Amino acid sequence: MKVLRGTGASAGIAIGPAVLFRRRMPLVAGGLSADAIARETARLAAAVARARRELAGAAKGLEAAAGRDEAGVFEAQALMLDDPELIGRAERLIQVALCPAERAIEDAGAEVAAQLESLPDEYLRARAADVRDVAARVRAVLEGGVHPLAEIATPSVIVADELFPSDTAALDRRNTLGFVTEVGGPTAHAAILARALGIPAVVGAPGVTSAVSPGETVIVDGTGGTVVVAPGAAVVAAWEEKRQAAATRRKDLAALRDLPAETVDGHRIELAANVGSLDDVAEAVDRGAEGVGLFRTEFLFLRREAAPDEDEQFEVYRRAATAMQPRPVIVRTLDVGGDEPLPWLGMAHEDNPFLGLRGLRLCLRYPDVFLTQLRALLRAAVHGHIWIMLPMVADAEEVRAAHRILDEARSQLSRRGVPQGPVRVGIMIEIPSAALLADTLLGEVEFASIGTNDLTQYALAVDRTNARVASIADPLHPAVLRLIASVTRAPGRGERWVGVCGELAGDPVAAPLLVGLGVSELSMTPPVLAEVKAAVRSLSFGEATALADRALACRGAAEVRALLAARGFASPTGAAPLDPAPP
Ligand code: PEP
Ligand code: MG
Repeated sequence: MKVLRGTGASAGIAIGPAVLFRRRMPLVAGGLSADAIARETARLAAAVARARRELAGAAKGLEAAAGRDEAGVFEAQALMLDDPELIGRAERLIQVALCPAERAIEDAGAEVAAQLESLPDEYLRARAADVRDVAARVRAVLEGGVHPLAEIATPSVIVADELFPSDTAALDRRNTLGFVTEVGGPTAHAAILARALGIPAVVGAPGVTSAVSPGETVIVDGTGGTVVVAPGAAVVAAWEEKRQAAATRRKDLAALRDLPAETVDGHRIELAANVGSLDDVAEAVDRGAEGVGLFRTEFLFLRREAAPDEDEQFEVYRRAATAMQPRPVIVRTLDVGGDEPLPWLGMAHEDNPFLGLRGLRLCLRYPDVFLTQLRALLRAAVHGHIWIMLPMVADAEEVRAAHRILDEARSQLSRRGVPQGPVRVGIMIEIPSAALLADTLLGEVEFASIGTNDLTQYALAVDRTNARVASIADPLHPAVLRLIASVTRAPGRGERWVGVCGELAGDPVAAPLLVGLGVSELSMTPPVLAEVKAAVRSLSFGEATALADRALACRGAAEVRALLAARGFASPTGAAPLDPAPP
């Protein structure tokens, strides 16, 4: 038995015989005559036209099976066939390097993909796989072959060096139990499609194609990222039990999708999604989120050479607001600094950046950057419900300064005659001073959301990036809970909406406690929405409140966890039903 580790890309467990699939196939040799050059150029053009038709068909098929957004993968690939960068390069290879069409398109695809892979932008790097995929499709048309993955006749686990979106779409779902790849990350399109189609998958498991022989039993744990090759009967039986339990659990959870997040006695809270890109927004809608509770906008600003302009930002916010309509999107204004410096802003080195110029402080110091983002948000608010949330607020004076800049953004748009929509303005509570001053601070804003990641770091003096103190950084520490309570139970809170958007909100163990503390909303990464909803629906509001009261009186995090465990809320150990020593 061998155990390999990769990245869990699509949840679920698959157990079955392996089918090996390698993309790297031998290529035909070059050296063409003048006649052959004309013939190969014409073959290439015909194959490109056919591939374009195939992609249109694949987009239609996938839209029916997995939805509009997934189908967009193939629409984008069809556009690549019109790109002179790819097809022009292949034509030149036929004419200058005397390559047959098959070799020309494959080499052109590899060259364009290599260029994309060298770019700093993660999104563009991920598109390299699409270019290779399009080239492979044209090559397959030239060879007149059927996709080998479409011919798998018995339920199997696919073990591949790399899978392209067209490979994933060619998979016969009844006979594909799961897949493992050597390369690729969880945001590669093949992984996204696997999630949309509900196929368990592990990506980025180096060496897996050499470790597995065809027909050998393979276990794929798409949640934990483990791959077990050639397990014994006892190990298979243990994983099979786990697979069945997980499948039953998933079915139960899926049934909750459209039910409210309410306690057994009808106390209702909202469950929303934390997102960091437009792709995440689509997933949030898919999983039944009641809104976006935290839209981290940093992805627009990091790893680039200049600030994104107002129009670029507007387009992203507009699309998010439109996709979530009629639900709200809480957009957090730029929160960089800390462990995410902005090179184009020329920020000075700081010895303690987490205690430095980050979040709102930075925006107040660079008002032009802030104004541009605020104008884009006010414009996007014409298209949906945008709530603007200010991060790293320390006190009411900062909030007032931010409001003045927001007023200025409004006037600038009015002077330009540009339409703007209504927004709600709120704050993140993630600095202890803000939590302690909540009774005065809440009066300045329309809502607040508690960022437990930073609140824990600042309350317990544990650097959130330092693995050596990670075990101390427990957000269930009663000191953190008391800070949360000083917001949710603040005198004068009245009807003020208070959410939680740190990682704690997505922990089903903590959800009952947070409900008992009086939160209006919990916002989390979309895949855990159903688990948290199940936890909220498992007790009464009275029980939740009593649990919260007792937790506030605990002496340490371990005591809080013991209290929750005694009520049946405990973290799974995460141990797989075998003892695979990591290789
Ligand atoms: C937090 O601090 O809890 C939070 C949600 O913000 P971030 O993790 O982005 O700092
Ligand atoms: Mg934070």
